[in-house]
Amino acid sequence: MLAKIELDLSRPNFLTWFQETGIADITNGSATVRVPNAFVKEWLENKYHKIILHAARAIAYDIKSIQYVIAKQEGGTTQNMHDSAARKRRAPQEQAPSLPDDMSSLHDLSINPQTNLNPRYTLDAFIVGSFNELAHAAAQSVIRRPGASYNPLFIYGGVGLGKTHLIQAIGNEILKTNALCKVKYLTSEKFMVEVVEALRTQSMNALKEKYRAMDVLVVDDIQFIARTEKMQEEFFHTFNALYDKNKQIIISSDRPPHAIATLENRLRSRFEGGMIADIGFPDFETRLLILRTKVNARGASLSEEILRHLAERITQNIRELEGAVNRIVVASKVSRAPLTLEDAKRVLASHISAPKKFISPKKIIKAVADFYDIEEGELVHRSRKKDVVRPRQIAMYLMRRELKTSFPAIGEKFGGRDHTTAIHSCAKIVRELEGNSELEEEIRTIREQALSK
Ligand code: ADP
Ligand code: MG
Repeated sequence: MLAKIELDLSRPNFLTWFQETGIADITNGSATVRVPNAFVKEWLENKYHKIILHAARAIAYDIKSIQYVIAKQEGGTTQNMHDSAARKRRAPQEQAPSLPDDMSSLHDLSINPQTNLNPRYTLDAFIVGSFNELAHAAAQSVIRRPGASYNPLFIYGGVGLGKTHLIQAIGNEILKTNALCKVKYLTSEKFMVEVVEALRTQSMNALKEKYRAMDVLVVDDIQFIARTEKMQEEFFHTFNALYDKNKQIIISSDRPPHAIATLENRLRSRFEGGMIADIGFPDFETRLLILRTKVNARGASLSEEILRHLAERITQNIRELEGAVNRIVVASKVSRAPLTLEDAKRVLASHISAPKKFISPKKIIKAVADFYDIEEGELVHRSRKKDVVRPRQIAMYLMRRELKTSFPAIGEKFGGRDHTTAIHSCAKIVRELEGNSELEEEIRTIREQALSK
């Protein structure tokens, strides 16, 4: 990995920043890079993040994120990027870096391009408590008899509470018993982008056929679809076509149908005609169980005291529980002694006490302009220079995604363009993002820079 970075950098640069740097851990698509001090950490994060990410992906292609932790190298247990590069040059037969045991399994966890399902979301890994047992039971019933028990199945609940996990697990389980079943998962935003795109290329019929040929259609975060009538209409027709053929439809939302203000009545009554199940907040014991399970799954162990502390602190979001586990487990892996409660609190505090960050159109424009090294003015005016077109599309996309700015308002911001230009720009980026992890990373970086402005 270091050898690859070395190729990309000048020698002094390389030596300055990558000596005493190594991989501490690679788990679940996230690599932890050990750095000797805060200064190097900051520098790598800000300046070499992309290069490091690319190099890391050469080892494990589905690494999505990199964390940097300050730690002294421990005796031989971590892989030193520098050493391994040196070894590479000397002995080609030793080229394969010694990776953590769970690396091989990473390869099984990529998203299935046919179904868009992530195999990580299984029913086995889904912990059940009173907060989600109704939704879980309904899911089981749908798995046993797709299309014949509850149709549609409508799952709703707050952020980070397992909606996506559960609805994808239904798809995965159905495929386990019937590999030929045509299952498709998508978010409602993806659906909308496809519709816009199909309208543009006059391929609406092909799109309709694609979805109508499904046996199981899983649509995540349906609340967004209620924003435009056209989309609701398209979805309504797709819904009916499937429903009439007894094909299973599974929908998630952040709130129940009656609380989605702009949802058309005909869609609402369709949704209410099926099974509606909510996911609430897990109680303390369940949070503990979730924490324990996640820690075990990462091959680590944390003291009871730490687990209870986390379960007390984080009450409303399972994704946050996971995030805390990840950070503390990484810290525990690079530390010599078992973590104390105080250590754990420190790890959490360093994350939580970061000043509240917010994003604004101005910050997005500045970050995009900086990133691509162009003038802000060029970005927002009617310049047709070729190297401005794409950054502008990305800025529009970010404004839409991060701030939910309306398309007409986006067009207005960028030199009084028409709203269809904004729609097409966003659609183009969404389309390109599919399977393009480099672009995804690029946009993630810009977003972070916008946040820090
Ligand atoms: P939502 O879609 O409701 O925002 P997700 O399904 O994305 O939430 O869940 C957030 C994270 O928490 C995911 O990594 C998921 O695997 C995990 N998670 C959620 N619910 C459970 C559960 N009941 N058991 C185990 N992990 C869960
Ligand atoms: Mg979700």
